[in-house]
Amino acid sequence: MSEAAAVLEAVEAGPDKKCAVPERLTAKRHAAHRTIVRVGSVAIGGGAPVVIAGPCSVESREQLLVAAEGVKAAGASLLRGGAYKPRTSPYDFQGLGLEALLILREASELTGLRVVSEVMSTEDMEVMLDHVDMLQVGARNMQNFALLRRLGTVRRPVLLKRNPAATVKEWLLAAEYILAGGNDQVVLCERGIRSYDPDLRNTFDIGGMVLAKTMTHLPVIADPSHATGRRELVPAISRAALAAGADGLIVEVHPQPERALSDGAQSLNIPGFAAMMQDLPVPVV
Ligand code: PEP
Ligand code: MN
Repeated sequence: MSEAAAVLEAVEAGPDKKCAVPERLTAKRHAAHRTIVRVGSVAIGGGAPVVIAGPCSVESREQLLVAAEGVKAAGASLLRGGAYKPRTSPYDFQGLGLEALLILREASELTGLRVVSEVMSTEDMEVMLDHVDMLQVGARNMQNFALLRRLGTVRRPVLLKRNPAATVKEWLLAAEYILAGGNDQVVLCERGIRSYDPDLRNTFDIGGMVLAKTMTHLPVIADPSHATGRRELVPAISRAALAAGADGLIVEVHPQPERALSDGAQSLNIPGFAAMMQDLPVPVV
């Protein structure tokens, strides 16, 4: 029985003062209580931080294969790439859908890297389960409760991004939906919150990230790309996040960021990513 299921059983069995909080499965019950989330052979939250890297969107076979080889050579241990994209404007590139999933699968087979991609809706769940090793819930979907409930029923790790307007508690309660359904393989991701400076896409909430780590046994990683919107800030924010105890990073990397169909301004090129990886404050896996 998973730990989440065991706690759920204890809660259902009767009043348990230790679980008398709404985020009863997500909350840390003692300092040493930590969940390790496994994506293939990669363990998130167990020891050395994990780096997930790749383009915002899968745009073509060539683009993704070059990105995948590049991030692998630089030391990333998981590959990211969006197939179904949540775009602010309906006229912007919406992702290649199934074609992107097939390209991700091919890149995974060629490099050995497991893949992380966003599931935007419950309708896409089956096809995502066929092709993706870790399911990302995007910031805009953090409180899509139907999606969260469905993710609770699957046996696949989930990367749950924080909504830019959510409190840490709301973010943990979103995770609680997944754990309450029986899936305790959830990684939280701080990706910047909405603030007032137009020169920053978001504001990286390092305090919120550290607070989350004190409140939950789930791993917490950082997304310096969406948190800043500017590639030149990504290495410093990555170093800060790891120095503050992040369990990993998810970084946007594109072979030619100036030609990217989404999030080019915040994407590192492959040499830029490789340089950043050489200069992290702690060893990563
Ligand atoms: C992404 O990872 O490309 C993405 C859309 O992220 P977020 O949901 O954090 O905006
Ligand atoms: Mn993006």
